[in-house]
Amino acid sequence: MRILLVEDDPMVGAALRKGLQQDGHTVDWVSEATAAQAALIPAAHDLMLLDLGLPGKSGLALLADLRRAGNPLPVIICTARDAVADRVKGLDLGADDYLVKPFAFEELGARIRAVTRRRLGQPANRLVHGALVLDPASHEVLLEGRPVALSAREFAILEALMERPSAVLSRAQIEDRLYGWEDEVASNAVEVHVHNLRRKLGDATIRTVRGLGYSLGRDS
Ligand code: CA
Repeated sequence: MRILLVEDDPMVGAALRKGLQQDGHTVDWVSEATAAQAALIPAAHDLMLLDLGLPGKSGLALLADLRRAGNPLPVIICTARDAVADRVKGLDLGADDYLVKPFAFEELGARIRAVTRRRLGQPANRLVHGALVLDPASHEVLLEGRPVALSAREFAILEALMERPSAVLSRAQIEDRLYGWEDEVASNAVEVHVHNLRRKLGDATIRTVRGLGYSLGRDS
């Protein structure tokens, strides 16, 4: 998924960005609340990881503004160990979860998956569609029980489609999810990834909805 990382500590931010990217996420990183607000205007992100102790406007003020504006973006806040009051306030303001610094990267990954499950109303991590199974934790894709090797971006597209099996995703929506600010996007990149997914999973797995985009096939 595409994550907006709001973190002013350069070392912590760089480590988080690297780890999240290694987990297959697209990461845009800002170090101030006002930059985060500007970044959220296109509504391209799937989750915000928000440090509360920021220079200038605080993370809590950013969260309050976001929810006051009706923005439902899932938010995980990061706080210092002794900042119990901030965590309580953050959750009451509409954060979905929190992490106490320093935290293990594995825990962050698990909390991102848990927040995503709740957002999608799913009881379990694994996404299942007919004979196709995708596991966001292990990054495994199985077709009729057999593992299929996908690139990170192929995996991300399939995950996006399987999260909402009845939805049609436009090429722009897929690009938003796959590519951050620093990525150059070839104009046919999504088509190439979809072509490769069909080659690996079968032509019927992904439907082209003319003029609109892509959706999962009815029964792959
Ligand atoms: Ca900070």
